[in-house]
Amino acid sequence: MTQSTPANRLRDVRSRIARAAAIAGRDSASICLLAVSKTCSADAVAALAACGQLDFGENYVQEGVGKIAALRTRHPRLRWHFIGPLQSNKTREVAAQFDWVHSVDRLHVAQRLSAQRPVERDGHVLAPLQICLQVNVSGEASKSGVPPQALEDLARAVGALPNLRLRGLMCIPAPNEDIQAQRAPFAQLHSLMEALNRQGFALDTLSMGMSADLEAAVLEGATIVRVGTALFGARSTAVGREKT
Ligand SMILES: *Cc1c(COP(=O)(O)O)cnc(C)c1O
Repeated sequence: MTQSTPANRLRDVRSRIARAAAIAGRDSASICLLAVSKTCSADAVAALAACGQLDFGENYVQEGVGKIAALRTRHPRLRWHFIGPLQSNKTREVAAQFDWVHSVDRLHVAQRLSAQRPVERDGHVLAPLQICLQVNVSGEASKSGVPPQALEDLARAVGALPNLRLRGLMCIPAPNEDIQAQRAPFAQLHSLMEALNRQGFALDTLSMGMSADLEAAVLEGATIVRVGTALFGARSTAVGREKT
């Protein structure tokens, strides 16, 4: 039996992505693996970074900002994605420390992120904050996400904000064991992005798929898959919770 090391788990997840991409006739280089490190230690992130992993996702503001502070100097090239529920009183730290936010579903939060995005950090000019709108597709597990009928108006308003760059859409469907059932909400998110692009948007990002359904997401066009458990092992649900 192969030992479960960070390097082995990373290789396994990458080969799952590559197999699904091959079936879909897609180049696996067009799919970004986002390692979801919520509840994991900064050391666990550093171990995966040492294997070449660059993109990390965090769900809780305080926990994420702590890890970024612990790792920024030694690992300045890491890209940090905020993927959890975001309340308006926490936007300032997210705007200052993260590179991406996947979970925007309200204009008010986007306006604050844009207003609070600093011009520079550590003497380097900062790129705009990269944004995905979280959509409440059919079968969504949580109550968050903009309803599809309200998506176009939100996208227009967010797309006009100066310090954000609207990149695409994100969803978190309810878990389902059946791959055909897994594919349906991902296909829906993909058509919503295409419909926006026909209205003049130039979106290029579909953030969808997790440990249990990343193949279905890749088959439906995911460009970012968000994987936690398959890379870091099972999380204890009691650990790492904080009010957001
Ligand atoms: C925790 C989480 C993930 C990763 O889930 P796994 O099933 O552990 O791969 C992906 N996306 C979001 C938004 C999450 O909260």
